[in-house]
Amino acid sequence: MSINIDSKLPNLGTTIFTVIGELANRHQAINLGQGFPDFSAPQGLLDRVDYHIQQGHNQYAPMAGVAALREAIADKIGQSYGRAVSADREVTVTPGATEALYCAITACVRPGDEVIVFDPAYDSYEPAIELSGGRAVHLPLLPPAFGIDWQRVKDAINPRTRMIILNSPHNPTGATLSAGDLDSLAELVRDTDILLLSDEVYEHLVYDGETHQSLLRHDELAARAFVVFSFGKTYHVTGWKTGYCIAPAALTAELRKVHQYVTFVAVTPIQLALADYLRDCPEHYRQLPAFYQHKRDLFCEHMTGSRFKFTPTRGTFFQLMDYSDISDRDDMAMAEWLTGEKGVAAIPVSVFYKEPPPGRYVRFCFAKEDQTLIKAAELLCRI
Ligand code: PMP
Ligand code: GLN
Repeated sequence: MSINIDSKLPNLGTTIFTVIGELANRHQAINLGQGFPDFSAPQGLLDRVDYHIQQGHNQYAPMAGVAALREAIADKIGQSYGRAVSADREVTVTPGATEALYCAITACVRPGDEVIVFDPAYDSYEPAIELSGGRAVHLPLLPPAFGIDWQRVKDAINPRTRMIILNSPHNPTGATLSAGDLDSLAELVRDTDILLLSDEVYEHLVYDGETHQSLLRHDELAARAFVVFSFGKTYHVTGWKTGYCIAPAALTAELRKVHQYVTFVAVTPIQLALADYLRDCPEHYRQLPAFYQHKRDLFCEHMTGSRFKFTPTRGTFFQLMDYSDISDRDDMAMAEWLTGEKGVAAIPVSVFYKEPPPGRYVRFCFAKEDQTLIKAAELLCRI
């Protein structure tokens, strides 16, 4: 008997991060592909996880997250973005930012709804939109600046527009939204029921003295936004898959309706450890911009002798490199060649576009030990 599975996501393959990760392992390439650090989390944080496990904090946490962590998050949001949020009604801890994104989208998007996404778009947004019966409307961010063309957004908005998804600092381009961008957005959504989903997982990775323009800084925008963060990026623990969502109480209530049946809760001892560390060691996130700016500068400095062209990234731990002086290959073939033949794994950029614009870019992750970055740059400079 053969069953007709009739896939709900017929066009979706394996994520590029898995594809390139496997290739990197097979060829023992230096993996600057998938975004994850090759260095450890702070010892003090690791010790707190041990402590809480040994204390027996190993059962389900409250659905919205451990209270101490939600309170520490609310304090941090107040200090970082000047917004008072209710730990009980506006903060939800989730197993990774990915779960928060999924829950926000599925809680709000109905069949026939349109959701505006900016390409290159992080790859988890569209499947959630499609599973909800919605349609992603792709607007391109164009090189070299990869900024948002607000006139195009205005033209794309119509009565079916339910949500706009933003991501700043932006993966994979490193572009950041300015205060002026937030005002332009506010003007477009004023007097509509359009919701905003703001992916701000790289909030602390902004360079050259720039300030992260969180939607939480903007009263009008924050009133209609789900704003999503990830401890994975901030504490070098991507494998802990712990993040959170800040949203006004009415939106949080909708998000939690989905969250409680998708995963119900995030991991208890990890939440308790993060609560301790967030409260006791705010220096950790305050020094992150300098920590990563050093890595960006080191990588870029060692790449100046290469045939890649680039502008140092403004945010995230990703650096785009233009390889048009090196090869005519498309970027997938280039990423495979770099990984398989040249010993350094990279991520192609066109896979995050519906219709890629002209240009030849690959993305390198510089969340690596200095020695790893120097070695990778040496190999890339030989090309
Ligand atoms: N959004 C963006 C833009 C990301 O780069 C990532 C990193 N994987 C995520 C969301 C997901 O974060 P998490 O691992 O906490 O689910
Ligand atoms: N956010 C990570 C990146 O962009 C990947 C996460 C994943 O593998 N899904 O590299």
